[in-house]
Amino acid sequence: MVIKIKALILKDGKVSLKNVPAPQPQKEEVLIRVSLGGICRTDLEMVKGYVPFTGIMGHEFVGRVEFDPQSELNGTRVVGEINIGCGSCSFCWTGLKNHCQNREVIGIRRRPGVFAEYVVLPRENIYPVPVEISDEEAVFTEPLAAALQILEQVHIPPSYKVAVLGDGRLGLLVAMVLVETGLQPLILGHHKEKMDIVKPLGVKGVIAEEFSGKVDLLVECTGSSTGFQKAQENVKPRGTIVLKTTTTGKASVDLAPLVSGEITVVGSRCGPFTPALNLLKRGKLPLSKMVEKVFTLSQGEKALEYASRKGVKKVLLDMEC
Ligand SMILES: [Zn+2]
Ligand SMILES: [Zn+2]
Repeated sequence: MVIKIKALILKDGKVSLKNVPAPQPQKEEVLIRVSLGGICRTDLEMVKGYVPFTGIMGHEFVGRVEFDPQSELNGTRVVGEINIGCGSCSFCWTGLKNHCQNREVIGIRRRPGVFAEYVVLPRENIYPVPVEISDEEAVFTEPLAAALQILEQVHIPPSYKVAVLGDGRLGLLVAMVLVETGLQPLILGHHKEKMDIVKPLGVKGVIAEEFSGKVDLLVECTGSSTGFQKAQENVKPRGTIVLKTTTTGKASVDLAPLVSGEITVVGSRCGPFTPALNLLKRGKLPLSKMVEKVFTLSQGEKALEYASRKGVKKVLLDMEC
């Protein structure tokens, strides 16, 4: 008999709840009972066709290992890295599995995602969650790691003037990470109540259109293809723009100001999980204020629609009820 599980399936731009066969762990893989999932902009962009994908959606999660063929991790609360390299190409050999041309990415590329009762992941992708971190915090590990990736890529002197463009879910996490390094970032956004989440950390919120200053480093998190233009206007000569937006829309860019201003542009994607968990363990981030609403897996379609509304904060999916 084939055991079936509930899962949120994306097919031809349509999202629906279906019963699908339960995944079976292969060698060096574990079966995880998903507790909570987080909806991110990438999921919403995928519904619009950002990348061609058919299957179970979702990549941000926390869960509990239900079956480890080696029995070591059974019952352990875990989060997981989303990229799975082929293991045999030059990128994988040199520690760049996130850039492996043949990689699978859970819920994004050739691999079932986490908006389901169960998911299977390679053992090497799994990170145990310390007891100090609640499920509602742990579900932020993946996007927080993406925010930390900026520090892996760019050296930011503590005297730098920095700004985050965009007060969405990732923008707020990036602001929190920059504060942790001793910087005093500005956040350039549109929603006072969202910018207020990071205000107690010393982050000054400014309405994006009203800001005409220039900073040394600007992190673009608008989620819009037009964000790059605004980023160029607000960065100093010899400054740096870090791009975090992944979107279906194409930006048309005037390259001349980048050349004359000698601007460095850095693309930035997935990041390191261990520092993200360390940061969560310290319990200083105002993450509970970032959660807008928790839906059940059965309400998944509605949850995605809700998360796509303007100004909505983080929407979570509870897989266990
Ligand atoms: Zn994401
Ligand atoms: Zn590879």
